[in-house]
Amino acid sequence: MALQQHRARVVVVGGGFGGLQVVRKLRRAAVEITLIDRQNFHLFQPLAYQVATGALSAAEIASPLRVIFKRQRNVRVLLAEATGFDLERRHVLVGRLPNDEDAATVDYDLLVVAGGSRYSYFGHDDWQRFAPELKSLDGALEIRSRILSAFEAAEVEQDVERRQAWLTFVVVGAGPTGVEMAGQIAELARDTLRRDFRAVDTRASRVLLLETADRVLTAFPPSLSKKAANALERLGVTPLVGHTLVDVAYDSVVVQTPIGAQQRIPARTVVWAAGVTGSALAAKLAAAAGADVDNAGRVTVGPQLALAGHPEVFAIGDMVRVRDSGGEILPLPGLAPVAMQEGRYVARVIRARLRGKDSPPFRYVDKGNLATIGRSKAVADVKGVHLSGFLAWITWLVVHLFYLIGFQNRLLVLLRWTFSYVTRGRGARLITVPPDIADEERTHDEPRKLTCA
Ligand SMILES: Cc1cc2nc3c(=O)[nH]c(=O)nc-3n(C[C@H](O)[C@H](O)[C@H](O)COP(=O)(O)OP(=O)(O)OC[C@H]3O[C@@H](n4cnc5c(N)ncnc54)[C@H](O)[C@@H]3O)c2cc1C
Repeated sequence: MALQQHRARVVVVGGGFGGLQVVRKLRRAAVEITLIDRQNFHLFQPLAYQVATGALSAAEIASPLRVIFKRQRNVRVLLAEATGFDLERRHVLVGRLPNDEDAATVDYDLLVVAGGSRYSYFGHDDWQRFAPELKSLDGALEIRSRILSAFEAAEVEQDVERRQAWLTFVVVGAGPTGVEMAGQIAELARDTLRRDFRAVDTRASRVLLLETADRVLTAFPPSLSKKAANALERLGVTPLVGHTLVDVAYDSVVVQTPIGAQQRIPARTVVWAAGVTGSALAAKLAAAAGADVDNAGRVTVGPQLALAGHPEVFAIGDMVRVRDSGGEILPLPGLAPVAMQEGRYVARVIRARLRGKDSPPFRYVDKGNLATIGRSKAVADVKGVHLSGFLAWITWLVVHLFYLIGFQNRLLVLLRWTFSYVTRGRGARLITVPPDIADEERTHDEPRKLTCA
């Protein structure tokens, strides 16, 4: 299909890791691009946990899309939520516009959908209220407020058991996000806050890391999982592998232990870092194309990352699974490099089509896997070379700085990390989201006299 008669209209839905690459790599192509996103910024999700623990502030991991594409004249940014697709008429439906107009449609010649994923509560959406997730900036800010508020509550709590519940933090899911989150909460309690409170000893905090599988970081080789678990324990985290969350309430979690017993653990702060499912856009796209989504809510695309029967509609990133030319599903992890490589690939396919050429199928180049645990501690599996400790940590720092969007943010984050490394401090310890406590969750003791320490 050659598209040379007029400047092809390319619509990209989602300015995350995948969508951003598509737009960037089309900067010299003779196309008119519309980038639709429901938020006005690109979020660097791999560092969301550092916002949630006060190490970085929100603006340091988020870059406004208009700033990113200020100099790219062939792109316009549309702040709106994509609500559906009409593949026959070739337009994207968008919801309320910023000027309050109800809805609109955006026509395309070529469409790329990169809506990402969302956390899955495994059918227990009611848990979200007590166990917020880290997928969005709002989620990270809410978690930060909850963690910091828990220490404030412990400071004024006189009842020993209730105080311990305030000082108990449960992280659900021991993938890279859960491991990073648990390590940071432990460092916050043991190092950063140690001298800031008068009545409570923050070092008495418990950080529990729940994982159904029999080890942490299951995507890594067992030897690195073991090293990560040991490093977590040294930091004061208790990895509870083989433990499954069965219920969560405002003041406790119930877990099933490896022998099948159920145990209730009083805890006031729970962070969700377990499974993800494809963006709602995957199901909408599948429905429009008469296709299905898999158990993880992902739509299937072919070897050129296009929908079957619709070579003009591409989908990439967390919301897709890829079927190769032989009909086999490629085992691709839900990681930023996958979405980025897919984004770059789709831009190449589009450029080739503009010249009337075909493209070889998508091929993922696995550059390795990294997870950090805390100060000077990380694990890395780079093409079979296993690293741990300081070297892995430096690798992690360099890679994350390299991929962070914008020179200013790179510089700010580097300065923040250097400062935190030297002082063990965290500059963004603000409680900005008031705790959402229902009346039945409040303690109704008689007013007591608070004394200054
Ligand atoms: C807490 C956390 C930590 C992570 N850590 C790492 C890590 O260390 N290393 C790593 O490689 N990967 C990590 N990941 C995974 C990585 O972030 C994802 O694989 C990557 O973001 C996927 O890119 P994407 O383009 O598919 O989606 P995203 O980057 O999520 O982008 C999706 C975009 O679509 C927009 N969007 C969604 N729905 C709509 C709609 N209806 N209308 C308009 N816009 C919409 C969203 O606003 C967003 O901008 C982490 C993920 C999380 C949540």
